[in-house]
Amino acid sequence: MLQLRPTCENCNRSLPPESTEAYICSYECTFCASCVENVLHNVCPNCGGGFQQRPIRPKDELMRNPSSTNIVYKPINQEKFKVLLGKNKDVLPEER
Ligand SMILES: [Zn+2]
Ligand SMILES: [Zn+2]
Repeated sequence: MLQLRPTCENCNRSLPPESTEAYICSYECTFCASCVENVLHNVCPNCGGGFQQRPIRPKDELMRNPSSTNIVYKPINQEKFKVLLGKNKDVLPEER
């Protein structure tokens, strides 16, 4: 089950479960649309994978299985990320 983390890991902007701006990698590292597009270029800084829009859990389901309240705030390390970005930026996620 997805955790539905409450914020963007890079900029800490709020990403409530109904947000259409939330993107996740296969490990559920969670970022906002703006960071994915303008900062990460579809490369997850933790695993190098690509992102997909996070699915939205219906309200009734959220009552039974609430979203996570555990904030993960880990802004990218520019130096380290540059290497990962260089390696993956021009490779489709399905070919990484
Ligand atoms: Zn962000
Ligand atoms: Zn990741």
